[in-house]
Amino acid sequence: MSRGAILILGGTAEARSLAAALHGDGVAVTSSLAGRVARPRLPVGDVRIGGFGGPEAMATWIGEHRVRAVVDATHPFAERISASAARACAIAGVPRVRLERPGWTPGRGDRWTWVADLDAAARALDDLAARRAFLTTGRQGLAAFAADAGRWFLVRCVDPPEVPLPRHHELLLDRGPYTVAGEGSLLDEHRIDAVVTKDSGGPLTVAKLTAARDRGLPVIVVRRPPRPDGDTVHDVAAAAAWVRALAVA
Ligand code: NAP
Repeated sequence: MSRGAILILGGTAEARSLAAALHGDGVAVTSSLAGRVARPRLPVGDVRIGGFGGPEAMATWIGEHRVRAVVDATHPFAERISASAARACAIAGVPRVRLERPGWTPGRGDRWTWVADLDAAARALDDLAARRAFLTTGRQGLAAFAADAGRWFLVRCVDPPEVPLPRHHELLLDRGPYTVAGEGSLLDEHRIDAVVTKDSGGPLTVAKLTAARDRGLPVIVVRRPPRPDGDTVHDVAAAAAWVRALAVA
């Protein structure tokens, strides 16, 4: 590769797999993490941690580090970094591709309610008359449920939340992957009657949906936010092929 490294904007399992695949091919890779979680799973290759300071600063970083191309492999709900990457790549004049895993789709027996955002998810709990909800939406959006003193919540996230939590709750600090048996036990033990999730997609956290379906429980699913225009691929192999194609372009 004639210019510098490929910059992978990460924080996902797919980003780590892509870093490993490209590293294995001998491609220089730098992965970028936001620095949100206390003990991140680190990809192979070079890693930088922390925000860039906005799109212009990211463009400067790209130029200074002679980045050849950017793969935006951030989480489907990480909106700002994707918008920032699109702008930064336009400024810096480097190609960008979005690697985004497919969302989940309901199957036979699923009782899903799709909502636009976390505020709508909080309202949907009222519509379902849920009394004991399992919140798996991550710690950043928990404020949407903070004022709900009328029901009990099992709140699961990787690191302790920094926002107020609902009055009646139990906090469970854990990180996937999860099993259907384990998720089922959790639902039974806590007598959960509704599950709230983002449409994160992927296999690592899908078990809760299967366990909910097995019990006939409703699931409130937050839709993904819109994305900047540009090329999108949906798996690691396609992203790796996109990078390899740059070498012969
Ligand atoms: P966000 O709202 O889109 O980004 C907020 C700011 O954090 C960005 O403007 C950027 O700061 C910085 N940032 C985010 N991702 C970065 C990265 N990979 N490298 C360097 N800086 C980054 O992001 P978020 O929703 O807080 O998610 C943060 C990270 O956690 C992402 O990398 C994402 O892949 C991962 N993650 C998110 C979720 C989720 O549900 N949102 C779930 C699992 C993992 P500057 O403007 O200063 O550059």
